Amino acid sequence: MKILNHFSLKNFNTFGIEANAKEFVAVHSIAELKSVLEDHKAKKKFILGGGSNMLLTKDIDALVIHIDLKGKKIVKENDDFVWVESQAGENWHEFVIWTIENDFGGLENMSLIPGNVGTTPVQNIGAYGVEIKDTLDSCSALKIDCLEMRTFTNAECHFGYRESIFKNEVKEQYIITSVVFKLTKRNHKISISYGDISAELDKLNSKTPSLIDVSNAVITIRQSKLPDPKVLGNSGSFFKNPIVLKSDFEKIHKEFPNMKYYEISATEVKIPAGWLIEQAGFKGKRFGNAGVHINQALVLVNYGNATGQEILNVSKEIQKTIFKKFGIQIEAEVNII
Ligand SMILES: Cc1cc2nc3c(=O)[nH]c(=O)nc-3n(C[C@H](O)[C@H](O)[C@H](O)COP(=O)(O)OP(=O)(O)OC[C@H]3O[C@@H](n4cnc5c(N)ncnc54)[C@H](O)[C@@H]3O)c2cc1C
Repeated sequence: MKILNHFSLKNFNTFGIEANAKEFVAVHSIAELKSVLEDHKAKKKFILGGGSNMLLTKDIDALVIHIDLKGKKIVKENDDFVWVESQAGENWHEFVIWTIENDFGGLENMSLIPGNVGTTPVQNIGAYGVEIKDTLDSCSALKIDCLEMRTFTNAECHFGYRESIFKNEVKEQYIITSVVFKLTKRNHKISISYGDISAELDKLNSKTPSLIDVSNAVITIRQSKLPDPKVLGNSGSFFKNPIVLKSDFEKIHKEFPNMKYYEISATEVKIPAGWLIEQAGFKGKRFGNAGVHINQALVLVNYGNATGQEILNVSKEIQKTIFKKFGIQIEAEVNII
């Protein structure tokens, strides 16, 4: 294990921002991870997965530990379910495809989300009506200060919309090393009511879609809507969809009757942040090297050589304008570093 100094993170963040780590090390086993933590107790640390949910606004003045633990296996099964464990450094999409190839159901709607398996619990990733909390059985994590392993059950992860205990109560205290998913072996719960999945399946003439059909439909939709970070740097949805109280929403809705919304409980309404950004006139707008994607208002992009600060400035301008126009505060989903 070699500690590299002044290491460029340009290829380790999907925004493609040029920023350096003061020190960088990739770890391939829990033993290596423990040894790095033991040997560098006093240093500030930063944990890096696939770099697809972060905006680097400056160099990272810390020891960046890239989690590269590999491996996946079945840990338990019965006639209906299988429990599969993946190490944190596995690529998420490759893992999803592996589960589908084995006819294990539950993750197909989350095909093609970038990043690593170990990071999926951090923001409870989700797409097309399904979230990681629906199938996550437990995850194992190493406590950074005492090097003790702990298992977090699904309930202990305190999952919410793009939230978990790892972004809140125990933020930066644990490194997730592996995740166990409980997946179906038969009677798969195919979920195609969200977004354009059923329309896409109709095009494929798929009346009783299989896991691979759903995955292919999701991949096709995502490729048509979202920019490929390898071509245009981005971090997916930059903002969370704001959740407002129904009583507040009713007042705003009177003024903006075309506003899109989803009732998520008896008292709360979720508003698509992309719609707000589009209405505020930012869709497709470019500010120097940074901007808002032409087809997807929720995605901020690096047109080439943007600094993290430039992208952050665009995000702040959007937040300010939306608050002024709608009285709604939108929050970043991306981790601003
Ligand atoms: C084109 C595109 C589309 C996207 N679409 C979606 C989507 O549909 N749904 C969705 O939910 N997200 C989406 N995302 C966001 C992103 O892919 C996910 O949040 C992903 O889980 C991030 O994983 P990562 O390994 O790249 O995390 P990183 O960016 O490396 O890390 C994110 C945060 O987690 C911390 N972290 C990393 N690894 C660990 C670990 N092992 N233990 C503890 N903390 C850790 C980091 O310190 C950082 O704070 C998209 C991103 C892109 C670029």
